[in-house]
Amino acid sequence: MNSPETTELSIVIPVYNERDNLIPLEDKLETELQKLKLSYEIILIDDGSVDGSSQLIISMQKNNPRIRLIQFGHNHGQSAAFAAGFKAAKGKILVTLDADLQNNPADISLLLDEMQNFDVVCGWRHKRNDPWIKKISSKIGNAVRNKLSQEDIADTGCSLKAFRRECFDNVKLFKGMHRFFPTLMKMEGFRVTQVKVSHHPRLYGESKYNIRNRLFSSFQDLMAIRWMKKRQINYDIIKED
Ligand code: UDP
Ligand code: MG
Repeated sequence: MNSPETTELSIVIPVYNERDNLIPLEDKLETELQKLKLSYEIILIDDGSVDGSSQLIISMQKNNPRIRLIQFGHNHGQSAAFAAGFKAAKGKILVTLDADLQNNPADISLLLDEMQNFDVVCGWRHKRNDPWIKKISSKIGNAVRNKLSQEDIADTGCSLKAFRRECFDNVKLFKGMHRFFPTLMKMEGFRVTQVKVSHHPRLYGESKYNIRNRLFSSFQDLMAIRWMKKRQINYDIIKED
C-alpha cells in the first residue's frame, strides 16, 4: 500500500449506479496510470448505488490493492462524493473523473504536464459526445455562468481535472459546488488553467442529470458563488504588532 509520503496521484471517482462501467474503467485506468510511472491510488466513492456497484468494487479490490472504496449509505450527490474522496486521498495531486468513461484516462497525462506550471488544470470537452439537448444546455449554462460570475472557464462541468492537494485545505464544500471548483480555487489564489480533452459517449448506464434536475439548483449555486466572489474578504495590512 502507498504511504501518504509516497503516493503521488489520487484518482478520485464518484460512482452512482455505474456497475457495468467499473471493469472497463479499471482496465483503462490501469493501462494509462502504469505508463506514468508514478505511485497512485484509485478512490471510488459509491454515492448510494443500488445496482451492486459497491459489491463489484469489493471484488475488484481482491486483485487490485490500489483500489479504495468509500461507500455512502445513501445518495448524497457528486459534490459530497468528491468531498469524501478528497478527505481520504493521500496523493500530492488529486485527479477527478467520471466513472462512465466519458472522460478518457489517457488524457490524465495532458493534465499532469500542465501541473508543472499550475495548481489546477481543468479539462475542456471541446468536442462533446452527448445528446444535442445536453450539448446546447451546457453551452448556454457555461455562457451564463461565465457572464454572471465573471469567469472564463469554457467547460466547468467536465469532471476531468487535476488539483494540488493543498487546493482543498481551506475550502468548505457545499452541494453543487463541484461545478465551481475553478472559481473557488482562483478565489483561494491558486493558478488555474484549461486543456482540451477528448469526450466519449456513455456506453453503459444512464446519465444522472437532465435539464430539470440541474437548471434550477445550479442557477441558485451560481448566485451563491457570485455573492461569495463579490463579498470575498480582502485586506492589506501595513503594520501588525
Ligand atoms: N454521480 C454521483 N452522484 C450523483 C450523480 C452522479 O456520484 O448523485 C457520478 C456519476 O456516477 C458519474 C459522475 O458523477 O461518475 C457524473 O455523472 P453523469 O455521468 O451522470 O453526468 P453527465 O456526464 O451525464 O453530466
Ligand atoms: Mg457522464
